[in-house]
Amino acid sequence: MRVSRLMLVTLRDDPAEAEIVSHKLLLRAGYTRRISSGIYAYLPLLWRVLQKISAIVRQEMNGTGALEVLLPQLQPADLWERSGRWAGYTAGEGIMFHLTDRQGREQGLGPTHEEVITALAADLIRSYRQLPVNLYQIQTKFRDEIRPRFGLMRGREFIMKDAYSFHTDEASLRETYAEMDGAYRRIFARCGLRTVAVEADSGAIGGSASQEFMVTAEAGEDLVLASSDGRYAANQERAVSLASEALPLGPDPCQALATPGQTTIEALAAAHGFDPTQIVKVLLLAARFADGLVQPVLVSLRGDQQLNEVKLTNAISAVLADHGGLLEVAPLDSALVQRWNLPQAFDAIPFGYLGPDLADGTIDKGIEPPTRFKSGSKAEVPSRLEHHFLRLADPTALELPRFVCGANQLDTHRVGATWADLGPLPQNADLRAAQPGDRCLHDPSQHLEATRGIEVGHIFQLGRKYSTALEATFTNEAGQEEPLWMGCYGIGVSRLAQAAVEQNHDANGICWPLAIAPFAVIVVIASLNEPVQVALAERLYGELQTAGVEVLLDDRDERAGVKFKDADLIGIPFRVVVGRGAANGQIELVARLGGEKLDLAAADLLPHLMQRIAAESPVPTPTHP
Ligand code: ATP
Ligand code: MG
Repeated sequence: MRVSRLMLVTLRDDPAEAEIVSHKLLLRAGYTRRISSGIYAYLPLLWRVLQKISAIVRQEMNGTGALEVLLPQLQPADLWERSGRWAGYTAGEGIMFHLTDRQGREQGLGPTHEEVITALAADLIRSYRQLPVNLYQIQTKFRDEIRPRFGLMRGREFIMKDAYSFHTDEASLRETYAEMDGAYRRIFARCGLRTVAVEADSGAIGGSASQEFMVTAEAGEDLVLASSDGRYAANQERAVSLASEALPLGPDPCQALATPGQTTIEALAAAHGFDPTQIVKVLLLAARFADGLVQPVLVSLRGDQQLNEVKLTNAISAVLADHGGLLEVAPLDSALVQRWNLPQAFDAIPFGYLGPDLADGTIDKGIEPPTRFKSGSKAEVPSRLEHHFLRLADPTALELPRFVCGANQLDTHRVGATWADLGPLPQNADLRAAQPGDRCLHDPSQHLEATRGIEVGHIFQLGRKYSTALEATFTNEAGQEEPLWMGCYGIGVSRLAQAAVEQNHDANGICWPLAIAPFAVIVVIASLNEPVQVALAERLYGELQTAGVEVLLDDRDERAGVKFKDADLIGIPFRVVVGRGAANGQIELVARLGGEKLDLAAADLLPHLMQRIAAESPVPTPTHP
C-alpha cells in the first residue's frame, strides 16, 4: 500500500474531543473519525488492525472447536419479552436502540444475542447427542450507552466477538468455560496485551460465575482490587473483603441525643467523639420495576462503609424477582420525585436523622399515590408506590451489638441502640463496597490494592436462565426433556484495538505490537527528487510484498522529517529509510519500539526482517481434533 493513496490525514495537535491518550493518538494518526456521539468510522489502517485482531480471535475460537455464525442485528421484541429483558433494555436507563417497523412490530438493534441464539437452540437442539456446542460471531453491536466516551472504548456501535455454548449439564458448561478462559488468555497475549483475569459481577446478563479480562491501564473505567500475592482479584463492583473491627460502644441503655445540624457521619462523630464504626447510617432509595411498582428501600450500613450500588441492585432484584425486571434504583430525593413524576412533598422525612426502623408509610404520608411515569417507554406505565419499606442491612451493621443511629426525628439520634430495640431485623445482604487497603478474606495478612483496568473480555456461566425462559430443551440420556445449560463469552474487538494503544505508545505516537499492527514495515523515501532513492525504495517495496511482508511505501512528496514523524505516529513496527546511502546500496532500519537503528546493505534487508518478524510471531495454536 502506498501512503499517497491512503487518504492519510494526520493531526499535529491533540483533538479537543479526546481525553485519553489512545483516543487522541487514533484520531491524530488517521485511524478513525467521529461521525456522531459514540459512533466512529474505522478508516483503512484501523480496519486492518481490527481484522488482525479478528483473525487471532477466530483462530483461537476455532481451535477450541467453536463454530462461527452470523446472527441478525435486528431482533424482534417478543423474543426479549419472553426472556423478560425488553422493558429493562428499552425503558429508563435501558441501552437498546429500538424502533417500530412498517408492520407496527417493535424491533431492537442487538446489544447482545442471548435471546436470538437461545431461540435457535430451541429450534435446532433436540438431543444430548448434539451437545456440547459452542457458536460464535464477530459483529457490530449497538448500545445506546448513557455515557459514550473515550472513542472506541465505549461506543454506541462497536465490534464484539460473542460466543454462546450449550450443554447437557453444569460440569460440561464448566469445562467449556475453562477452555474459553484459556483461549482468552492466548488471544490477549497474542495481541500483545497485558491483562489480568478478575472475578466479575454478572450484571443484566444474569447467571452465576463470571470473569472479566482487564487490560491494566490508568485510563481504565473499572477499578480492580487485587491481593499482592495474586491469589485474589475482583472488579470493585463485586469484590469482597474483611471490614476493619468496629470499636465497642459503652454499656449505657439506649437514649436520645440532641444532634442539631449533625446530618453527616463526620459531623456526628466529631461532635460527640464517636468512631464511624459505632454508627449505623441509613440510606433511603427507591427502586422502579417494569410492572410499575415503586419500592422504597431503606439500607443500613456501618458508618465507615460505602454502599456498592451494583451489589444493592443485585440484592433488590433477587428479593423482588417477579415485577418484570428492575429498571432503576436511585436515592429517593426531590430530584427523583420530579424525574419519576411522583407527586411532591418530603416534609415527613427527617433526612439526616433516619433510623433503620423508619415507619412504613412515612413516604406515602408525603407522597400521594403516583399516577404514571413520564419518561422511558412510549406506553406510560401506571405506577404503584409500595407502602412497606424493603429493609436491607449489610452484615457489618447487623453485627454491631450496640450502635448510634438516627431517631427518625429532626436533630435527634439514639445512642446505645440494639437491633432488638428496632423491631423486625432487616434482611442481611452484602452491600458494602470493598476498598483498597481492606484485609483479604483468603488471608487477612494480605491487603487489597487498587489498579485501573479496561474490560476487554467477559466470560459467563449463564446456567439455565435463558433456556428456561425461551423453552430451549433437549432430551437427556434417560429420554426426559430438560432445559439446556448455557455459557456466554464476549470480547470487545474494537475496544481491544484502542486498549492496545493505551498500553503501547510513547511520546511520538503508537507502538503497535507486531501481531496487530496494520503493516509490519514502512519504507520511507527520504527525497522524491532523488531517482536513486525512489528506485531502491520501489525495489525493496516490491521485494517485501513478494515475500508476503505487509509493507507501506511512503511515497508522498513531503519533507523527510514529516514522513518520519508520521511513521512514528501511526506506529508501524519497522521503518526502512531509503536516503543518501541509497547511492551505495545502504539503507537504515529503525525499530519503532525503543528506536534502535541499524545500517544495512539493501540486499540484507529482506532476510534480516523476515528473521525478526518470525522471532516476534507466536507459535501457532494447535487446532481442535
Ligand atoms: P461495560 O461494563 O464496560 O459496559 P459490559 O459488561 O456491558 O461492559 P459485555 O456485555 O460483557 O460488556 O460485552 C462484552 C465486551 O464488549 C466487553 O467485555 C467489552 O470489551 C465490550 N464492550 C461492551 N460495551 C462496549 C461499548 N459500549 N463499546 C465498546 N466495547 C464494549
Ligand atoms: Mg455495558
